[in-house]
Amino acid sequence: MYPFSEFWKANDPGGGSGGTKDVGGPDSDATVAGGPGEVGILESPFVRWAADLDASDCLRLDVQIEQEIARWEAARLVVRARFARLRPPELDGSDQRYQAFDEFAGDELAAELKLSPAVGGRRLAFAVSAVRRMPAAVNALSFGTIDLERLNALERLTANLTDEQADEVAGGVLSNGGGRPSHNAFAAAVRRRVIKVDPQGAERRRRKAAMARRVTMRAEADGMGRISALLPAERMLAAFRKVDGLAKKAGSEQDRRDLDQRRADVLYDLIMGRDHDRINLEMQVIVPVECLLGLAEKPGEIPGYGPIPAGIVREMAANPRCTWRRILTDPVEGQVVETASRRFPSAALARHVRVRNPTCVFPGCDKRSAACDLDHTKPHGQHGPTDEGNLGPECRRHHRLKHAGDRPTGAAHPAMAGPVTRWKVRQVRPGHFIWTSPEGRTYRVGPERHDEK
Ligand SMILES: [Zn+2]
Repeated sequence: MYPFSEFWKANDPGGGSGGTKDVGGPDSDATVAGGPGEVGILESPFVRWAADLDASDCLRLDVQIEQEIARWEAARLVVRARFARLRPPELDGSDQRYQAFDEFAGDELAAELKLSPAVGGRRLAFAVSAVRRMPAAVNALSFGTIDLERLNALERLTANLTDEQADEVAGGVLSNGGGRPSHNAFAAAVRRRVIKVDPQGAERRRRKAAMARRVTMRAEADGMGRISALLPAERMLAAFRKVDGLAKKAGSEQDRRDLDQRRADVLYDLIMGRDHDRINLEMQVIVPVECLLGLAEKPGEIPGYGPIPAGIVREMAANPRCTWRRILTDPVEGQVVETASRRFPSAALARHVRVRNPTCVFPGCDKRSAACDLDHTKPHGQHGPTDEGNLGPECRRHHRLKHAGDRPTGAAHPAMAGPVTRWKVRQVRPGHFIWTSPEGRTYRVGPERHDEK
């Protein structure tokens, strides 16, 4: 049997039977080759070690690795909560809702970890909430008694309780070791405790939860996308029954669609109305010329969605009733140069900048540029020109983040030694931005390459 520490050492560049430094190098004796220059898990010393393990070793190690991961997850939560403390909210803002940390702190974390800013903010908020509201649960995580998914369930299911009640629920669920046989059983135990701790709060919690109702969309593989709605339960059921009922009625002998497909079509018809081929929203599709001519199967691209298969592009481009705006990417894509000193860019310039940078130019932000403000990188008030080299799309949030940096820094927060530093951005050449974070770290954002192989 191999103790965990031995297994760990196996992949340590400093010791063990081989170092990661030379794996995949010119003298590598790796037995499983990936592409040239690739070093993957299949060549790592871990794999050689694993070959000596028996089944019982494997199971034991899996448990130990699980506990190590939980320990590191706990450490990360504490570190993130500390980071949030170092970024206190500005207190002089009159319209600021209660916040535990500066509204742009999550963006800093996101840029560092290559996450979207929204995810960065959520991770930071989760860490702060977990550490503050349920220290007992974070402790249990650090001992590997529960995993991160269970802590997540605790945090989510107690979101509408007071801090004291949340801690009480966590304490109760964890009192007998916390280990339920599955995540579902754990979540059920948490729900029971929530009712026990706050039997009268159900209505209040329901109203609070309804505030979070929303519709979201997500790109999926193979030219598909998902749209979903978070609704109060009775509305969700009513809406689904209506879609389901219409879909069942729509079926006939000749109809080859199954019920799932009919439901999807019915939902779209209901939202778009009768004339749904005529899409009146301005949507852009970036099309390589060879694709339109049927010469190549190069994918097109919808800003805000990503690449779409050539067949769909041709179908859309050929539909005369469709008001998609076609933008050809070949041979020379948009050489719009305008150096007018007008504050507002011409339609052609605006379109060019939005196609060039199809999303908000903050690192990792994927708000599509059609929904973004066009910001003067060097402020217009400081003689920044209105041309392609000084304009970039920024979503509302990052437009505000950037303008916070343009302002002279305000009063220092009482907990901080000096004034809060803000993000800065430069456009080094048209479409290429270099952001500098409050910590002095830099992130490069370039235009999207539509011809990327
Ligand atoms: Zn943004």
